[in-house]
Amino acid sequence: MGLAGLAGSANAAQERPGGGMMPAPPASELNPSQALDLLRQGNDAFLRGEQTSVLTSAQRRLDLALGQSPFAAYVTCSDSRVPPELLFGRGLGELFIIRNAGNTVDTVALGSIEYAVAVLKTPLVVVMGHESCGAVKAATEVVTDNATFPGSIGPMIEPIIPAVLQARSENGDLLDNSVRANVRRVVKQLREQTDPIMLEPQQKGDLWVVGAYYSLETGEVDFFDLPERAG
Ligand SMILES: [Zn+2]
Repeated sequence: MGLAGLAGSANAAQERPGGGMMPAPPASELNPSQALDLLRQGNDAFLRGEQTSVLTSAQRRLDLALGQSPFAAYVTCSDSRVPPELLFGRGLGELFIIRNAGNTVDTVALGSIEYAVAVLKTPLVVVMGHESCGAVKAATEVVTDNATFPGSIGPMIEPIIPAVLQARSENGDLLDNSVRANVRRVVKQLREQTDPIMLEPQQKGDLWVVGAYYSLETGEVDFFDLPERAG
């Protein structure tokens, strides 16, 4: 059955009389483009203010206890305003999420992504930054004002500083440009500087790594920096 068939299934509609999103098909039934479409559709529903059911029924939970097959791995900020499940109306077992302030990828994050790709066969990895990101703002202040931060906050934002240095030569808002530059750097890292575990599925077209930017005000997720083969 195709994706459209699954999404529009009458049985499925009966299961969800209140409307809202259907459970996503398992990752093995989706190519990267279809996985990205599911996110776009979910964000459209979120923007329309439709009830986006969090797919947390007891039956769904029992089904998932047998195994997970999330259709996307998601790297984003810990910021309380950017929870991916809510922005895309997705529920249990659908998104494999790595979050930290500033959405950077260290060894722990990279291993987590590799697990999603290699073991769970997730076809899509999204790296998302957002408007008014405090971690990226702190990194801009290091660059522009030589600011320092207590505890482990300084070392945590260090990987963002090269993105700020890059963004400094661009026209426009330094913070916004730094957020996008930080996303592009992490996307590039996942495309180029990693193990065959990540590279091979990308070369075969079985895996996409894409960037995204979330606007706090509009609720819109702008996907950018798609792989060339995505057209
Ligand atoms: Zn943030």
